[in-house]
Amino acid sequence: MFDNKKFKYAAYYAIGVAIVILIINYMLVDMRTQPIKYNEFLKMLNEKQIEEVQVATDKIVIIPKADAGSGKKVLYTANLNDPQLVETLRSSGVTFGAPVENNNPIKSFFWNWVFPIILFTLIGRLIFGKMDKKFGSGVMSFGKNTAKLYAENETGKTFVDVAGQEEAKDSLVEIVDFLHNPKKYAEIGAKLPKGALLVGPPGTGKTLLAKAVAGEAHVPFFSISGSDFVEMFVGMGAARVRDLFKQAEEKAPCIIFIDEIDAIGKSRDGNIGGNDEREQTLNQLLAEMDGFDSSKGVVILGATNRPEILDKALLRPGRFDRRVIVDRPDLKGREDILKVHIKDVKVSDEIDLTSIAKATPGAVGADLANMVNEAALRAVKNNRKVVEQEDLEEAIEVIIAGKEKKDRILSAKEKKIVAFHEVGHALVAALLKNTDPVHKITIVPRTMGALGYTMQLPEEEKYLVTKEEMINEITILLGGRAAEEIEFNIVSTGASNDIEKATQTARNMVTIYGMSDKFDMMGIESVSNRYLDGRAVQNCSDKTAAMADEEVLHLIKTAHENAKNTLLENRDLLTKIAEKLLEKETIMGDEFMELVKEYQGIELEPENTTEKDDVSGQ
Ligand code: ADP
Repeated sequence: MFDNKKFKYAAYYAIGVAIVILIINYMLVDMRTQPIKYNEFLKMLNEKQIEEVQVATDKIVIIPKADAGSGKKVLYTANLNDPQLVETLRSSGVTFGAPVENNNPIKSFFWNWVFPIILFTLIGRLIFGKMDKKFGSGVMSFGKNTAKLYAENETGKTFVDVAGQEEAKDSLVEIVDFLHNPKKYAEIGAKLPKGALLVGPPGTGKTLLAKAVAGEAHVPFFSISGSDFVEMFVGMGAARVRDLFKQAEEKAPCIIFIDEIDAIGKSRDGNIGGNDEREQTLNQLLAEMDGFDSSKGVVILGATNRPEILDKALLRPGRFDRRVIVDRPDLKGREDILKVHIKDVKVSDEIDLTSIAKATPGAVGADLANMVNEAALRAVKNNRKVVEQEDLEEAIEVIIAGKEKKDRILSAKEKKIVAFHEVGHALVAALLKNTDPVHKITIVPRTMGALGYTMQLPEEEKYLVTKEEMINEITILLGGRAAEEIEFNIVSTGASNDIEKATQTARNMVTIYGMSDKFDMMGIESVSNRYLDGRAVQNCSDKTAAMADEEVLHLIKTAHENAKNTLLENRDLLTKIAEKLLEKETIMGDEFMELVKEYQGIELEPENTTEKDDVSGQ
């Protein structure tokens, strides 16, 4: 096959040269010839200034004598079909006749055939070359790998760069060793897996891990995304797979990393009509994985967040038979990831990463890396040389709720509603047992739409949630609307997000976690896409689903009532804290708890001190 780029340059060059030759030729002809009028020609004949005359059908070429004063130029004039011309010429005594034909057959063959063919081929190649680029695929070089194959000889990443994924790293150490020394394994007859599948939610460090494996083993890293294989033309994807493996085998030992492998590896069954292109690509991938000699040291790492949709053929032994789970990091994992990223940033000595890790349950590596960067940007904005704890704390909020939107002006009435709404959440959280402590209440609007929010922080990482805790969560969520109803006797749109979350939690309790009396431990829905949005799939009859809806409604109604009653019983406290919040716009957890305790102390001390302990223990 041609090397497209070199060929293109050669084509430009050749066309350029041809054009220059034509121009020069034209100019030379122009310089050597000169038109004259017919009567001038007759005059020259008369005055014997002409050496030779060549009569063609359309023109008469005149070669003047050297002393005729026209230099060395050949003259010509139109042939007027003058019947006397031959007679005149004869009588003047000049040499005359028809023009001498250039009958060099090789030369004329070149100009008539070879030159036009070369010229048109070059122009054609150039035009197709352009189309090639436009469609991102080889029109002329069908099957050539023009996908965005990203190859690195040294990734520069090691396992030290990947924090909080100890189990995943442990499973990959063996692969690193194998790449270091494939012979050791071949000698004993051990076969190492050809491929491993990295499974986990987006941003948990799957790509990073694959790079680290290549970096640890000091082998080249080929990376391509599954979606790059799927092309408009049937057969292109398969050709690309072939090409990829060919290149990789030349560079073995090496790592091939296929991101979003589900784009090609989607299960083929239940796919009536099918997608021919994807199927062919998948078949080619399977064939290549079976075909290549693993003792050479090519290891394929695939990444996906939808393992359940992968074709079983892809997962059978000898292909992607290892599954490495790269899940969301836990508290310690998050702290370690923060440590990795904070290394590149100048920080003050008072930084407490544990508290930041605590405040970010559910965050993945990519979020945490982003947070550190946000904090650094904020420090620069505030003209500081180092990142402070407050920068990191603000960065968390920026990522959760967006930047502060100070220019959003709320009317006094709206502001008051928002304040009561937020204090409603916070107060219900503080007054119920077994809830996470309130960390911050604010009514400064944020760019992502929140007019205010209440932040609770768990004291420790939780892996199990009890029924009571889930009911509390719903009650806290509904506390915002309850406060609005109590204070203003209105309902506003401010609770839409709370409603959505509360309903989802109540639904999960009934349909997935077996927490309702009516359905006992019957599963009504199951979770698909565990690593993505965790959408639930209904697996019951419509009648059961309708009954489940009733249960959900019952849970929500009870929680709503509960929230209302809790706040009604503490209405003075609600008003007091809401007024404080209106005045200060942000109240931190400690200050909030002090207000609650102070109120509780006055109220409860004479009667029941244990009750007070319960509440203050929140
Ligand atoms: P994925 O491939 O799982 O979607 P990436 O590997 O592309 O995620 O992660 C994106 C970025 O997030 C990485 O470049 C890195 O900066 C950061 N990151 C993610 N996970 C980790 C981790 N476990 N340790 C350190 N950094 C991480």
